[in-house]
Amino acid sequence: MTPKVLVLGSSFAGLTAALAIQRELESAAQVTVISPSAQFVFNPSLIWLPFGKRTASDVTFAVAPVLERYGVEFVEAAATRIDTERQRVEAGATYDYDYLVVATGYRNDFDVVPGLGPNGPAHTITTLRDAVATAGAWTHLLNDPGPLVVVATQGASCFGAAYEFLFNASYHIRRARLRRQIPLTFVTSEPFLGHFGIGGLPHGEALLGMFLKKERIRAIVDTSIAAVKDDGVVLANGETLPARLTMAIPPFLGQEVVARSGLGDARGYVPVRPTYQSRDLDNVYAIGIAAAVSAPWHTPTPIGVPKTGFPTEAMAHVAATNIAAQVRGHEPTAEKAFGDIPAVCVMDAGNNGVVILADKMLPPRQHGVLVPGPQAHLMKLGFEKYFLWKMQNGYVGLP
Ligand SMILES: Cc1cc2nc3c(=O)[nH]c(=O)nc-3n(C[C@H](O)[C@H](O)[C@H](O)COP(=O)(O)OP(=O)(O)OC[C@H]3O[C@@H](n4cnc5c(N)ncnc54)[C@H](O)[C@@H]3O)c2cc1C
Repeated sequence: MTPKVLVLGSSFAGLTAALAIQRELESAAQVTVISPSAQFVFNPSLIWLPFGKRTASDVTFAVAPVLERYGVEFVEAAATRIDTERQRVEAGATYDYDYLVVATGYRNDFDVVPGLGPNGPAHTITTLRDAVATAGAWTHLLNDPGPLVVVATQGASCFGAAYEFLFNASYHIRRARLRRQIPLTFVTSEPFLGHFGIGGLPHGEALLGMFLKKERIRAIVDTSIAAVKDDGVVLANGETLPARLTMAIPPFLGQEVVARSGLGDARGYVPVRPTYQSRDLDNVYAIGIAAAVSAPWHTPTPIGVPKTGFPTEAMAHVAATNIAAQVRGHEPTAEKAFGDIPAVCVMDAGNNGVVILADKMLPPRQHGVLVPGPQAHLMKLGFEKYFLWKMQNGYVGLP
């Protein structure tokens, strides 16, 4: 019987893993992707939607044609049950597997603070739907200017997106000549500016501090928030920051189906070995945001570790190599612990930005550098085009 590989999720991790496994094994395995997302969403560009720099169709493409071109079956459905004992997944129908790849990513944890979520006054940009809704709120802000507060809440991990939104907002406010009418405040759970959830990089705190000062943005670090209300953000110390618009990056959680399956930890992330096999099962892998990562520090205000695109793709390739080895009857020996994967990221600031490079995602590191300048903005623009082209054509072997 041809071994069956089931991949849950069709985003950075799932699409990369499914195509890489198919490339390695060709007809030696039957690869199926199950995901409720028929569209791939290039999340790094969500920061631009509120400002009208991108539309939803600019940053999405249909995944089924890409997968099917390479002989991977796509099932548009959410997995509702993972039964690791019987090696099957329920997703409308029942699907058996020999190897399972959990690449189900994140969902927003809006329960952390009252006032977050679709029914609360705070907006966010962490999903396509949220970013589209924030575009409407942004237009209202320009028509009826007032204070803007950007928050990375306690437990958040996606700090880069918070900074990108903040600096892009500042850039567009200046262009609209509304700087006086729209004072800007940044509230972050990071212990210091530029920590980014990865421990910071040399001179990062000073650089971010300089950027904020230049843009006349008040920064409040190492802070939890108690609530977001219609007219402001209440900090844990009781201070209220008046806000006409609040954009808050919430913490992320793994998917409920993972938590229920017994595979996940308390937050719904799957503890993994450096092979990306789950801690307990040799034929179950977890990659991307679905994989649990622990930080080598404890911060006064809780924060998470960002599982960005570069390490996500690296995890997917390690898992693909190992599954191919197992299908061929070998031991899965490819390893790359999350903390040892290089950090490669671009933080956009409207017409400027910072390139973030380090030899390892997590300390201790040998090298780490932040390179500011307008070339960073151009790199982000170029990377968006390149990445969408690469994935839309299924060229997952390219860097
Ligand atoms: C606003 C924002 C900006 C970002 N900017 C950057 C950046 O500039 N650079 C960078 O490197 N990274 C960035 N990231 C991080 C990047 O988006 C993540 O690294 C990436 O999305 C991780 O991919 P993933 O496949 O692990 O998870 P996800 O992207 O969360 O995808 C999860 C997949 O699983 C599917 N799924 C969910 N539930 C189920 C279920 N029950 N059954 C089956 N499938 C399911 C989903 O539909 C989706 O297809 C950003 C993230 C955000 C939110």
